[in-house]
Amino acid sequence: MSEEKFTAKKKIENLKRGFKLCNELAPTFIYRDCFSAMAKTVISYTGIYFSGVIVSMITGGGSLENALKTAVIYVLLNIILGTAQVLITISKYEQLETGFTQKAKMLISEKCTELDFVKIEDPETHRMKQQAENFLYGAGSRWNGMGRILYDFRIIFESAVTIIIGFAMCFEALFLTPEKAEGFAGFLQSKWAVLILFLIYGLLVFAVTRISAWTGKVWSAHFSDKSYNQIQRVQSFYSGFFGRRYQRGKDIRIYDQSEMLLNEWERFNLKEIEYGGKMVRKMHLTDTFHPGVMLLIDIVTYAFVIARALTGQYTPAETVVFVMSITSLLNGVMTLLNYKVDIFDLVPLNIQHIFDFLDIPDEKYKGTIPTEKRDDNEYEFEFRHVYFKYPNSENYVLRDINLKWRIGEKMALVGRNGSGKSTLIKLLCRLYDPTEGEITLNGIDIKKYNYDEYMALFSVVFQDSKLFSFSIAENVAADTEYDTALVENCVRRAGLSERLDNMPEGIKTCLYKDFDEKGIEISGGEVQKLCLARAIYKGSPFIVLDEPTAALDPVSEHDIYTKFNSIVGTRTAIYISHRLSSCRFCDDITVLDSGRIAERGSHERLISEGGVYAGMWQAQAEYYKDTAGELFA
Ligand code: ADP
Repeated sequence: MSEEKFTAKKKIENLKRGFKLCNELAPTFIYRDCFSAMAKTVISYTGIYFSGVIVSMITGGGSLENALKTAVIYVLLNIILGTAQVLITISKYEQLETGFTQKAKMLISEKCTELDFVKIEDPETHRMKQQAENFLYGAGSRWNGMGRILYDFRIIFESAVTIIIGFAMCFEALFLTPEKAEGFAGFLQSKWAVLILFLIYGLLVFAVTRISAWTGKVWSAHFSDKSYNQIQRVQSFYSGFFGRRYQRGKDIRIYDQSEMLLNEWERFNLKEIEYGGKMVRKMHLTDTFHPGVMLLIDIVTYAFVIARALTGQYTPAETVVFVMSITSLLNGVMTLLNYKVDIFDLVPLNIQHIFDFLDIPDEKYKGTIPTEKRDDNEYEFEFRHVYFKYPNSENYVLRDINLKWRIGEKMALVGRNGSGKSTLIKLLCRLYDPTEGEITLNGIDIKKYNYDEYMALFSVVFQDSKLFSFSIAENVAADTEYDTALVENCVRRAGLSERLDNMPEGIKTCLYKDFDEKGIEISGGEVQKLCLARAIYKGSPFIVLDEPTAALDPVSEHDIYTKFNSIVGTRTAIYISHRLSSCRFCDDITVLDSGRIAERGSHERLISEGGVYAGMWQAQAEYYKDTAGELFA
C-alpha cells in the first residue's frame, strides 16, 4: 500500500466502504451516536442561553420568581434531553461495541478459511492479517482504524452542529452597530476589530491542526510498523499458548520449558514497551503544546469581549452568552479541522490495511465445469509431466511425474521422508497447482472443474489431520447435522468399537475440554481412527490415506490393513506410507525418490527388480523383524 495511490476519490471510496462495513458490524450505532452528539450540543447551548436569560433577569431588575421559573424550565429541558440521549444511545453502546468486535473477528476468520492454501503458508499473509486486525478491532483501531471512523463521524457531526448554533448565537453580538465611532473604543466596536480577532483565531487554529495531523501520523506509523506487527503476533501467540493449547502442557513440564517460553515472552513484552515508549515521548510534545494554544485562544477571546464590554457595547448577559458561545464555536471549528485531517487523510489510509487483507484475491483458478455424478465411480486421474516447486522456493520437489490411476485400484505411494509423497497429494487435492504439466480427471485439466465439486470427490486422512473440540459425531460428519447410524457405523469400521462402547454419551461425547468439562482426551492413534471414520463417512469416490496409521500400535495397524478393502470398498484409493510392510496388500506400488517416480509395480515385482523399493524393504525387514515380521508375514 503506498500513499501516492491515495487520490481524493480513493479516500472517499474507502470512507464509504468503511462506513458501510461499520454499519454492518454495528447496525444503527452511527445514527445513535449522531443523535447523542446532537443532544449533547443542544444541552450545552441551552445552558448558555438560559445563563444569559437568568443574568439579564437579575441585572435588569426582574423578579426572583421569574428567574427561578426559568431555571426550573432549563433543568427540566436538560432532564428530558439527557434521558432521551441515555435511552437511545448509551444504553445500547456496550452491546453494539461488543457485537462489533465479535463480528469483526469472525469476518477476519472467515477470510482466513477462504484464502488459497498457498496464501495461508505465506508469512506475508500473516503480517497483513495482523495489520487488518490492528486497524479493524485491535489497539490501532481506536486511534486510527475502524473505531476512528465511527468516532470521527460523530465528532464531525457534533462540531458542525456546534458551529452552526454557536454562530447563530454570537452573530448579533459580533456585528452590533458601534455605539462609538472614534478612538480605540470605536475601533474595538468596529468590524475591523472582529476581522483582526478572527485572523488571530485563524493562525492559532492552524497551529493546532498541524500538531494534530503530525500526532495522527505518528500513531498510524506506529501501528503499521512491520516490526511492531511482528511483536504483536508473537505476543498474541504466547497469550493464547498457555491457556488454549493446554495439551502441550506435558512437553512443557517434562522438558521444563516454561521458563524458556516465559523468558521469550518477556523479551517481546520489553520490546513492545520500548516501542510504545518511543511513541509516547513524541506524543507528550503534543500534549503540552495543544493546551497551550487553547489557553491563548481563551485569553484572546476574554480580552476582546471584556474590552468591548468596557466600552459599553455589551450588557453583562450579552457578555456571558457571547464569551460562552464564541468559545464553543471555536472549539467546534478546531475540532472539525482536526478531524478533517483524521477522516480525510489518516483513516482512509489506515483502513486500507483492512481492505488489503479482505481483498487478497483468489488466485487459484476455480473452474466452472461440474464434475460428473457417477454411480460407477468411473473417475480416472492422471498426472502428465507434472513438475512442482513450493512458492518462494527454488527447488523442484516433484519432477516429471506421470501417473495414472485405474478405477477402483488401491495404489500405494511409498518413498523415504521428504521424497514428495504428501506434496503429490496436495497437488491432487488442488491445495497447490502444478508449476508445470497438468493433472487431469477423465481427460480434462482438474483446474477447469468447479472447485467445490472437485473437492467433494476426495476424502483425505492427512498424517497431521486435526479434530475440533466438538462431539465425535460432529467431527466425523464434519457438520452439526448428521446421520446417527452412519456415524456410529463409520466409527466402528475405523476400529473404535470398544472405545465407543465405553463412552457414556456414545458418539455425542465431546472431544477435549475446551467447551465441555466432560469432554474426553484421545490418543494420537484414536485421532487417526476418527479421521479415518470421517473419510469413510464422506463417502467420496476417491480416498487418500496419508500415513493414516503412523500413530497406531502394530495391532491396530494390522487391524486397519486387513479391513482396508472393506473400508475402502470399490473406491479408488491411494495409500501413503513409508512402512513398506503396510503396503503389500496394494495391487500397485509407486515408489517416489527425490521427487521422481523411481519404480512402479507389485510388491513381488519390485522386490525381484532389486531397486529402491527392494533396498528399503530389506532395511525395514531387519528393523521390524521381531514385531512387524510376525504380524504381517
Ligand atoms: P513426504 O510426504 O514424502 O515426506 P513432502 O511432500 O512432505 O515429503 O515434502 C517434500 C519436500 O518438500 C521436502 O523437502 C519438504 O521439506 C518440502 N516441503 C514440504 N512442504 C513445504 C512447504 N510448505 N514449503 C516449502 N517446502 C516444503
